[in-house]
Amino acid sequence: MSLIKSLDEIELIKESAQLVSKTLGMLAEEIKPGINTLFLDKLAETFIRDHNAEPGFLGLYDFPNTLCISPNSQVVHGIPNKDVVNDGDILSIDCGVLKNGYYGDHAYTFAVGEIDQEVEKLLQTTKESLYVGIEQFKTGNRVGDVGYAIQNHNESRGYGVVKELVGHGLGKEMHEKPEMPNYGKRGSGKKFQEGMVVAIEPMINLGSSKINQLNDGWTILTRDNKPSAHFEHNIAIVNGKPKLLSTFDYVHKALGIKSDEEFPFK
Ligand code: MG
Ligand code: MG
Repeated sequence: MSLIKSLDEIELIKESAQLVSKTLGMLAEEIKPGINTLFLDKLAETFIRDHNAEPGFLGLYDFPNTLCISPNSQVVHGIPNKDVVNDGDILSIDCGVLKNGYYGDHAYTFAVGEIDQEVEKLLQTTKESLYVGIEQFKTGNRVGDVGYAIQNHNESRGYGVVKELVGHGLGKEMHEKPEMPNYGKRGSGKKFQEGMVVAIEPMINLGSSKINQLNDGWTILTRDNKPSAHFEHNIAIVNGKPKLLSTFDYVHKALGIKSDEEFPFK
């Protein structure tokens, strides 16, 4: 696997990333109190296969499902199940697809019905920090510039930045180099170059940054049981600047949200 992708490869990764975007948009219409997360998982699997692609997570490192769905205090890697989703919950949904030999992988944290204002603020800030990080993904900058920007945006507002899990390069493999931590020192780490493609994915806790893992071998959750948010995009460096390959446009359309956050990176 090469760190640098051709424009043709970037188009193929974009096609996979956009299918994830559409899948998340489809799910946004279905998320309401009373459903369970296994229902969402089945919808996503059918949707992806109907678009001539394969679920990217299913079977990867033996993960059992199409989606990682992590409610409330779960950070990432939650396994879909039949537990009922309630008004006031949040659901972090991470989705991957494999199409034409290339992966797409991104995530959104959804509110179920009405959520607490402090949780709403956590979601907003985590999403903001994703774009603050993306802005730093350009030629000449380094991995630590993205990490620093995300860490500073969240910690200065009192949130906990999860350090044990990180973003990554993306292409023929779901997880390629470089690792993209959500923390770091400015000017440190691997230098970015034209044609690099990465997933940037802040995982931000309302309380402490400390996490535990359930004995299912997958689910990561906050140690203090407070909520956690996760937003992820796929981005390439084209003409020296960050170019979004994934989009939240489908989610925003389904939820009736107006947003110009992505505009600088289209
Ligand atoms: Mg992901
Ligand atoms: Mg990822």
